[in-house]
Amino acid sequence: MCECIFCEISAGRLSSVILYQDDTVVAFKDANPMAPIHVLIIPRHHYESIKDIPEALIGHLFAVANRVAAELKIESFRYVINTGSQAGQTVFHLHLHLLGGRCMGWPPG
Ligand code: AMP
Ligand code: ZN
Repeated sequence: MCECIFCEISAGRLSSVILYQDDTVVAFKDANPMAPIHVLIIPRHHYESIKDIPEALIGHLFAVANRVAAELKIESFRYVINTGSQAGQTVFHLHLHLLGGRCMGWPPG
């Protein structure tokens, strides 16, 4: 078994609630949601962080996130990409958090 849980989800070997998938990107519900809506959008390919992803894929990742947000009918939401352990990254397979469904303060803690 691959050591990366998001590679396992992408390959369908680890269960998750998938909201969208295509050849290059998968969107699924966060297992430990921090908001009523908490979706993770990942590239299928393993890139450790946003620093490693090809430029063309960045656009598609956000396009998928926008599409999921539209399908969930949320107008206010937040995108978060934690990069590096000091910034809170715990899974080192690039993922875009889509958070919504509650009031969120700014700046974050
Ligand atoms: P980060 O701290 O930015 O690396 O975010 C990692 C996120 O992955 C956290 O919000 C976790 O709740 C989430 N997570 C970890 N394991 C799983 C899993 N098996 N399925 C869905 N989400 C997960
Ligand atoms: Zn991975």
